[in-house]
Amino acid sequence: MASQTGAIVQQSLNALMGDPAFLPNLQEQAREQAFLSLAAILSTPNKVHKAFLRITVDNGNVVRIPAYRIQHNDTLGPYKGGIRFHESVSEDEVTNLAALMTLKNALHEVPFGGGKGGVVINPRIYSAKELYLICKKYVQYFSDVLGPDKDIPAPDMGTGEREMDWMMAEYKSIHPGQPYLGSFTGKSVINGGSLGRREATGKGVYFTFRYMLYDFLKAQSSWLAGSTNPFVQTALALADKPLSIAVQGFGNVGSVAAMEAYKCANLQNKVVAVSDRNVTLYNPDGLSIPALLDYAVQHQGDLPATEAALSELDLKAQILGREDVLYLNVDVLILAALEEQVHQGNVDQVKARIIVEGANAPVTGEADVALTARGTIIIPDILANAGGVIVSYFEWLQGRETQFFSEEQVYQMLYEKMKKTLNGILPAFFGDPFPLRQNCYNHAVMKLSTVLYRQGKLY
Ligand code: GLU
Repeated sequence: MASQTGAIVQQSLNALMGDPAFLPNLQEQAREQAFLSLAAILSTPNKVHKAFLRITVDNGNVVRIPAYRIQHNDTLGPYKGGIRFHESVSEDEVTNLAALMTLKNALHEVPFGGGKGGVVINPRIYSAKELYLICKKYVQYFSDVLGPDKDIPAPDMGTGEREMDWMMAEYKSIHPGQPYLGSFTGKSVINGGSLGRREATGKGVYFTFRYMLYDFLKAQSSWLAGSTNPFVQTALALADKPLSIAVQGFGNVGSVAAMEAYKCANLQNKVVAVSDRNVTLYNPDGLSIPALLDYAVQHQGDLPATEAALSELDLKAQILGREDVLYLNVDVLILAALEEQVHQGNVDQVKARIIVEGANAPVTGEADVALTARGTIIIPDILANAGGVIVSYFEWLQGRETQFFSEEQVYQMLYEKMKKTLNGILPAFFGDPFPLRQNCYNHAVMKLSTVLYRQGKLY
């Protein structure tokens, strides 16, 4: 993953160097200087904060847990990005995720920079009390560098509303008398969170796919019909037939994206497979996503994994291994689990023609190259999964004003924002045979470079 983000930022930088629109008024030498400054700024984080959180666990032992907050870039506003609780968290991983947040926010014109946090734990093996102590300690250790105008964390893998509520409360008690509602986003609604925030990432993932393939492509099909661009051919071939969709991951992102796809029955598409950490459920005639969601809510997020559980639900599906979701003969694969799921070792078995990145960095650099060469369209993370941070921005605004939007308003504003980005990106994507990821990175880097230049930071 380290290499993928780095390599793509590097490619965007190279393309920018040859692009006459990049700092057009500069002499050659000054342009080169500006370019080197930009490369230095984007390839390293501004600040790396590390700590060992010391807590007493339920059996009385004292443990020290590694934790990070990485502030990549604040050119466009306060640092912003989630806090991940996962046993595979490392400084490298958090740094890359923080860089992705910088690009994601720049791409969608969200007035934030990029940051990310992480705690090296498997949250499933800690009690609620232990997790509470970990959250409190995290805020205590990093309290000087966090805040509504400095760095605003949010949920990520392994964290949710509960953790954000705990963290905001701790922030409030460390900074009495100061505004605190904007210090964390992704809080519960009763604690100042935004309606629609929980569903925002999954809804945005499906919206991006749907808007690209139907609203945008259909409107443009007259001039695209004769195109030799392999991505246009892939998209046009799929836009007119009923599609089969598989979703990897049935958490906050995957389950909502699957439900959105299920609800769009007028498109005649079917969600034929979903998976979680235990199983893949497959039915070529389509799965009942509402029934699976009900089940998951009652079983700590897990899908039914036995024949008995399926028949109790009166649900017909084949039970396959959890990785099998990646290799099914489907048109669309939504990756909404972990990073690096499609890699050099398994990319040849992936058959989907459109891959939507609901998770951050689920396709490795090598796999990306192989898929792109086959004309597979990859809708990249920074484009598709920005719904979360976009509604985080609305939450932050609502917290500042202490005035709250209805759920309808939130979704309308979310879709408008994503539509604006897509309308800026898609003409170039369908016009030139450049992968969508490359287009998005170029767009984001161009925006950052213009702002940095005008602030006098590229000399
Ligand atoms: N963790 C989410 C992401 O990766 C949301 C970040 C946020 O809301 O700040 O985009």
